[in-house]
Amino acid sequence: MDAVMGFTTPEKPVDVAELFPALAGLARTTVRLHPQRGVTTAYESSLGGPLLWPADEAWPVCTIDHPDDRPLRSAEGQKLERRLAELRAAVDARTTALVEPSLYREYEAVEACIREARRGEYASDPAARLPMVAVAQVYARDVPELPFPEGTDVCQVLWCPTDHEPDYAPRVDVRWRNATTVTAVATAPEPDREHSEDGYLPASCRITPERVVELPDWDDLPSDELREQITAWEKDREWSYGRHLSVAPGTKIGGWVAWEQNAFWPECDQGHRMDHLLTAATSECGYDAWQAWMPLETRARTSFGKRVRFTMVDGCTSHTMIGLDEEFDPATFTMLGRAVVAESVTEAVIPLDSAEPDGLGLMIGDVGDLYIFVCLTCPDRPTAVELQCG
Ligand SMILES: [Zn+2]
Ligand SMILES: [Zn+2]
Repeated sequence: MDAVMGFTTPEKPVDVAELFPALAGLARTTVRLHPQRGVTTAYESSLGGPLLWPADEAWPVCTIDHPDDRPLRSAEGQKLERRLAELRAAVDARTTALVEPSLYREYEAVEACIREARRGEYASDPAARLPMVAVAQVYARDVPELPFPEGTDVCQVLWCPTDHEPDYAPRVDVRWRNATTVTAVATAPEPDREHSEDGYLPASCRITPERVVELPDWDDLPSDELREQITAWEKDREWSYGRHLSVAPGTKIGGWVAWEQNAFWPECDQGHRMDHLLTAATSECGYDAWQAWMPLETRARTSFGKRVRFTMVDGCTSHTMIGLDEEFDPATFTMLGRAVVAESVTEAVIPLDSAEPDGLGLMIGDVGDLYIFVCLTCPDRPTAVELQCG
């Protein structure tokens, strides 16, 4: 068996909660999962690994409106698809201002009919449905912080690995089980690689849970006044509240959300604000935040270089990479024949390993995250997702 590596997030260089009393009471603990590629069993916690799924329970398949480039089988369905193609061509041929509203109305109506026909075909032909893929399985013994409903001790997260209306995200299915009730274990079907998004098929990883105390994302701070105070404090300092001192990036359970874009806390159908359950991330750390969030053990085996940013005489900005022990000399450096403005040069040390080859291997949006939320008030634990590009 491979040695399991430990993961230790560095101590924060500054305790901002001490500097800003308005942050008091806003600290939350998240569980970073530190996915590390490897084979796991159904009896362990994992990301992208086998699930403890009862042999006598059907594997979940998706029959909801995801893109499917296979033509509909019925003559009526094919007629609708031809009409949609005609309408699309008609819309494309005009400028937006000239498209009559009736064209859009018919387009939407035909689309709705096609969705309905596709659902009918999924219902009558199981082979046409997309099998969901295992994303996470977490036992209570490893992460007791999960909101396990009474009598359950394993949380399983699956998703349909393609984009769905209206969120353009994988459709998520979260199951809570009692492990002792599962005797014979099912084997998961192979994912349908032809109709799945490659970037939504996680590699099998072990997890190494690590508890980290976080503060709210910039967007989740309680007031503009506090944001202004923090901005003033950040001036001329190397640490940024948002990138280094607040919320942990990467794949994690609970705690705050490290929004890639604007904060968006969903509500369940009953109007309850939902809580963060799990973030599945493309990148565990990111270039500009590695000092704060790259685990010490990962840092020890990562190569670093210097990223030099500069402005050129024509006003364009660019950058180049040099070795840690190299010096950048603007006087001798040109790019496409253009000289560098010496005063504009800034340097930063960043990790050279651009990908994280030993991790989940996801590509969510453009190096983004998928956030999964759960309602802790409703007993059936409804969930919601939000996908944000990096
Ligand atoms: Zn689907
Ligand atoms: Zn609810």
